[in-house]
Amino acid sequence: MSDVAQAQRWVHDARRIVVLTGAGISTDSGIPDFRGPNGVWTRNPTAEKSSTLQHYLADPEVRRAAWKHRLRAPVFAAKPNAGHRALLELDRRGQLLAIVTQNIDGLHQLAGHDPRDVIEVHGTSRWARCWGCGDRRPMGELLDRVRAGEVDPPCDLCGGIVKSDTILFGQDLVPAVIEAAMFAADHCDLVIAAGSTLSVFPAANLVPRAKAAGARVVIVNAEPTRMDRFADALLLGSLSELLPAICATSTKDGESRPIR
Ligand code: NAD
Repeated sequence: MSDVAQAQRWVHDARRIVVLTGAGISTDSGIPDFRGPNGVWTRNPTAEKSSTLQHYLADPEVRRAAWKHRLRAPVFAAKPNAGHRALLELDRRGQLLAIVTQNIDGLHQLAGHDPRDVIEVHGTSRWARCWGCGDRRPMGELLDRVRAGEVDPPCDLCGGIVKSDTILFGQDLVPAVIEAAMFAADHCDLVIAAGSTLSVFPAANLVPRAKAAGARVVIVNAEPTRMDRFADALLLGSLSELLPAICATSTKDGESRPIR
């Protein structure tokens, strides 16, 4: 049996699947990853520095550049691709415990997942939050203000600094969100890690944690990851092809019918 067929069988037989997704699942939707061969940071290592909380809060120039950049960010025009849609089939079959995503693009929800099933460990770029009073509102409202001429729109309520509701470097993660992700890892019987170098923590810890709890581990990525030693199946290739293949519904005659 091929690795893909084996993984498909395990997915088919699992009852409580957790999927951990990274930036790689969204590259076929036109959103570049950070550390892949064409990643934003691979091509421009200094870009990593502008993603730190301290720089954002201290330097108005960094904020102005960030708001300008957001106006053209591919995330707001992106649509879910075949990889995102394949995961929806797990939900339809009642097998999905949770999607834990490192992504901030909201594409799992756009694909049709109930937002309560998507644990966004690094926050979301679709909302904005005031660093001062915590007021949270849709990113679209802030972008409208930027289009209207505000270069660094302050909070309407308290005048504080507004940022995307994502977790920047130097910013604390939200404990309840990480606990929910680790709870899912402790209670799944199969984890699929898709499109991540599995080098960002604590998200990457979900893999050894699920393994320690007795779950099977399927890793799907274009290149090796830091957690490959925990994999029961390691599938190297395109997520838009491999996820539909392993989430395919088995037909009576044993052939698989990919989800489109
Ligand atoms: P990463 O950039 O470290 O790794 C992405 C991996 O996906 C790479 O190994 C790459 O080779 C692989 N990949 C890319 N396209 C693929 C494809 N079509 N098929 C198969 N594999 C593919 O991503 P990460 O581990 O998620 O860490 C990056 C951090 O940056 C995340 O924590 C996230 O918060 C943030 N980020 C998010 C987005 C997004 O929301 N879409 C995009 C870029 C970065």
